[in-house]
Amino acid sequence: MFKAIVIEKDDTGYRAAIQQLDDSRLPEGEVTVRVSHSTLNYKDGLAITGKGPVVRKFPMVPGIDLVGVVEASDSPDYQPGDAVLLNGWGVGEGHWGGLAQKARLKAEWLVPLPSAFTPAQAMSIGTAGYTAMLCVMALERHGVKPSDGEIVVTGAAGGVGSVALALLSKLGYTTVAVTGRPADADYLKSLGASEVMDRADFSQPGKPLARERWAGAVDVVGSHTLANICASTRYRGVVTACGLAGGMDLPATVAPFILRGVTLVGIDSVMCPREERLEAWRRLAQDLDISKLDAISREISLEEAIPLAGQLLQGQVRGRVVVRIG
Ligand code: NDP
Repeated sequence: MFKAIVIEKDDTGYRAAIQQLDDSRLPEGEVTVRVSHSTLNYKDGLAITGKGPVVRKFPMVPGIDLVGVVEASDSPDYQPGDAVLLNGWGVGEGHWGGLAQKARLKAEWLVPLPSAFTPAQAMSIGTAGYTAMLCVMALERHGVKPSDGEIVVTGAAGGVGSVALALLSKLGYTTVAVTGRPADADYLKSLGASEVMDRADFSQPGKPLARERWAGAVDVVGSHTLANICASTRYRGVVTACGLAGGMDLPATVAPFILRGVTLVGIDSVMCPREERLEAWRRLAQDLDISKLDAISREISLEEAIPLAGQLLQGQVRGRVVVRIG
């Protein structure tokens, strides 16, 4: 038997609870993993609470991230005892996920746990941190250099934002953190932010073009915030968009793109090709100051994950949450 969070939806409603399951309930897959840690991302919050249409079939075990040790494998690529990591691929949405003591997965979804990280450290990075890395890699790919000017990071006290600040500052960029939690200014500065701005300055409808300020951006908020950032990005600057914490809409004009040559880059971590994932984890091992992970993350039990999911969606959870499972 193994323990898991199970989400069910039926005539009596939508609910998430801890259940004891046996191995016969595990889905199809080549590799069975004894999970030691998972995480709580924004998407897991949506899945557990049912506040967003994340779960595609029921019953579902949530958890878009996991790390653990291979218990059994039908794949030549993995042997029992191998330490592995998984982010995305629809796991925790359409295939049973990481908020369980066991998971059965496709071999091609797995990544060997980088030797630079303990299992808990890898989960304190998790999908949020790996997505932050994808954003930074996109800024680099589009030619943004530290000497070009300031990089604005929204949702800065959240998971993606916190890791983005830590990465960018280690790489020598000047960062400006945008947050709804001014009380966390010292935390954001400790991650490398040179200035902290109130998210209210970004969340109202703005002009098609504003004073040019940002050389680049990492945006997790969307909606007016993303539109205002595009409007105030410098000539040929680059905006990476990965989230919708403030809304799915984009009430913008084409002015920044056609008059200032601004590039808007979409970032998706879920179906990101394997080569780019491996590169992102290699870069995380190289460019993330591991000592900052302690400040960014906290550890909770599987039982605590259900109540914390609602708080996370309300923006009350700072940084990253590691769920200790094994
Ligand atoms: P968190 O909940 O950890 O962080 C989100 C942060 O956004 C909050 O901490 C808060 O930061 C800010 N925020 C929350 N609500 C609002 C609001 N109404 N208006 C403006 N800001 C708000 O989530 P994650 O960091 O895990 O994820 C952030 C976003 O990125 C989510 O939308 C998520 O779905 C998306 N995402 C997308 C991925 C992809 O592949 N494209 C992968 C990972 C995440 P503060 O208090 O500092 O203002």
